[in-house]
Amino acid sequence: MSQAEVSRMKPPLVPLATLIGREMRNEKVEKPFIKFGQAGLAKKGEDYFLIKVDCQRIPGNPSTSFSVFAILDGHNGISAAIFVKENLLSNVLSAIPQGISREKWLQALPRALVAGFVKTDIEFQQKGETSGTTVTFVVIDGWTVTVASVGDSRCILDTQGGVVSLLTVDHRLEENAEERERVTASGGEVGRLNVFGGSEVGPLRCWPGGLCLSRSIGDPDVGEFIVPIPHVKQVKLSNAGGRLIIASDGIWDTLSSDVAAKSCRGLPAELAAKLVVKEALRSRGLKDDTTCLVVDIIPSDYLVLPATPRKKQNVFSSLIFGKRPQKSLNKTNKMSAVGVVEELFEEGSAILVERLGNDFPSNENSGLLRCAVCQVDQAPAEGLPVNSGTFFSPPPKAWEGPYLCTNCQKKKDAMEGKRARPGVTS
Ligand SMILES: [Zn+2]
Repeated sequence: MSQAEVSRMKPPLVPLATLIGREMRNEKVEKPFIKFGQAGLAKKGEDYFLIKVDCQRIPGNPSTSFSVFAILDGHNGISAAIFVKENLLSNVLSAIPQGISREKWLQALPRALVAGFVKTDIEFQQKGETSGTTVTFVVIDGWTVTVASVGDSRCILDTQGGVVSLLTVDHRLEENAEERERVTASGGEVGRLNVFGGSEVGPLRCWPGGLCLSRSIGDPDVGEFIVPIPHVKQVKLSNAGGRLIIASDGIWDTLSSDVAAKSCRGLPAELAAKLVVKEALRSRGLKDDTTCLVVDIIPSDYLVLPATPRKKQNVFSSLIFGKRPQKSLNKTNKMSAVGVVEELFEEGSAILVERLGNDFPSNENSGLLRCAVCQVDQAPAEGLPVNSGTFFSPPPKAWEGPYLCTNCQKKKDAMEGKRARPGVTS
């Protein structure tokens, strides 16, 4: 047998140090596995959730798969939560240009989420129904997790080594001073309920409407300063993976992020979701709709790791994970790089134009302008003034930002408090 034949039969040995190096640079790392569990108990029956693990960036191509998980906590009825569950995903996807690379797709996602949330809100408000909903919408593509949220249904991330981080912000008037200022500046009043006799009760609410949240989808009977523009955060997990816990405020009013993460650590996702709900109910009973999704993003190695580990894998995994609990800040310690979450994007501004940017793709071929929110094509004359149909040339009137159709422009102005509303003086 010649030397060449021998080397063909045996795979070349890769030194362990090289393997670890690859792991840390994210090279040749396979897509993670997604395992999930859901649990909940209804009090009012206004919590909804969405689990969709078979989405494809390029339809018909399974290698472009991604997953979506969402919690929708409705108020004043269920129609907004149901409408969002049925329409938001397709509205987000329609705002992502076709035929772009995975990298570009992930870059376009935060903006598409903003467009999709606003479009869904406009469509729901046109139905003439009066409910609203929180939305916490999670897209998982490989190791990249993108979370868009309005309201107070949190998503937390628990990573290897026990670091728990919040991927959402709470849009609650009581706790969010920045949002209180924004609502007041756009013409809303913020205050507590006044019981007869003058004493104030309950959390801070905004008026008209009396909602405790500062952002939601729906709520046509509440001031337009309650906007559907989501906080968006995009992170890339290390290939050690992590666990997401997405839940309605029935959980978070009782459990801190840390307690929720700790209460189910080491358990499979299905059981973990049940335990988080149980833990939340243990201390104060069922006061509110309580819904929890647990999503594990697991390295493929984990699934082949036997109960009695084979020696080689054991050595490998102890090298990867063994030193991290020391939490060394020493940069020369390469092990500290494993398990670190890379922040790719975070933006929470409620100003629509800031969120859509200037370089939103127009419908170049048809000569029409495509609305950056609802994706409807309009002839230039119908919408905002533009020079000779060119998207980027300065229009006669000072205008910065992407093209919006008349309908979405109206929504934008209303959200910023530029449209006079009956009963509100500015
Ligand atoms: Zn539009």
